[in-house]
Amino acid sequence: MERIQLKALGKINLGLDVLGRRENGYHDVRMVMQTVYLYDEVTIEKTEEPKIQVSTNLTFLPTDESNIAYKAARLLLDEFRPEGGVKICLKKHIPVAAGMAGGSADAAAVLFGMNRLFGFQLNMEELKKRGVLLGADVPYCLMRGTVLAEGIGEILTPLPPMPKCHVLIAKPPVSICTKTIYEKLDSREITAHPDIDGIIRGLEEQNVKAVADKLGNVLETVTEELCPVISRIKGEMKQAGAMNAMMSGSGPTVFGLFKERSAARKAGERIRQAGLARQVYTTTIHNVRRNRRND
Ligand code: ATP
Repeated sequence: MERIQLKALGKINLGLDVLGRRENGYHDVRMVMQTVYLYDEVTIEKTEEPKIQVSTNLTFLPTDESNIAYKAARLLLDEFRPEGGVKICLKKHIPVAAGMAGGSADAAAVLFGMNRLFGFQLNMEELKKRGVLLGADVPYCLMRGTVLAEGIGEILTPLPPMPKCHVLIAKPPVSICTKTIYEKLDSREITAHPDIDGIIRGLEEQNVKAVADKLGNVLETVTEELCPVISRIKGEMKQAGAMNAMMSGSGPTVFGLFKERSAARKAGERIRQAGLARQVYTTTIHNVRRNRRND
């Protein structure tokens, strides 16, 4: 095999709680992660030249060693020293710097894909161990599905799958710096923690409405203060029939959970027309865990 094509799927957080800050700046979290069917297309090709070459459709993204896909390739090439190098092509669809783990998903795809392409024979646990060196969300992006993430995000426990529903994703045209959001959170007392156990109970009961009712993200009010359009998008989604709507990760992406695809599409159209977001996608929950297949 000389070439492999993969789907690097993005995530939303059904729940995100922060329990504390470590000395090294990382935070202890308790999150319910959920894969959605919105993905970057990642192609990896073996080359004779012992180099890593990254290309992408987004001109503002770096293609040098600061691209996390490059870092993932470097890590495996340095460890296993195969002959030759790789050409990585990233066709980005997951909104960038948006709270959907787009970069982490690309890195996970490169680890997974190169492992197959070169036959490094790493199992999932071994891949995850390398993934966390690249970023706290990379182990989850390797695993995928409905998962409880603890520690800095690398201690992963599979949960009962989120029941099928339609997900409207809207990324407002504002930039959010994850570090700034966490710093602002650190400077205040957290008075209301999201009910992560309530979300897990809803999943155990396979009750999508109960899960939707309990959505909670401790970072949401912090980001909303800097980016009030988040509240407006949530309002539009709920008015259009969403079971609930919330910000993902540190934002600014907002997602709404809908029973009906048509309602999600209509809400998306309104949000776009009102100029609240340009990157708007109607998609679904995706619960296929990563296995030996290529996707
Ligand atoms: P998370 O949800 O894990 O916080 P995010 O959605 O906030 O992730 P990313 O889209 O992963 O953020 O990108 C964060 C930053 O990383 C961007 O500013 C971008 O310049 C840089 N970056 C490096 N490599 C990539 C990549 N392959 N895809 C996207 N961004 C990348």
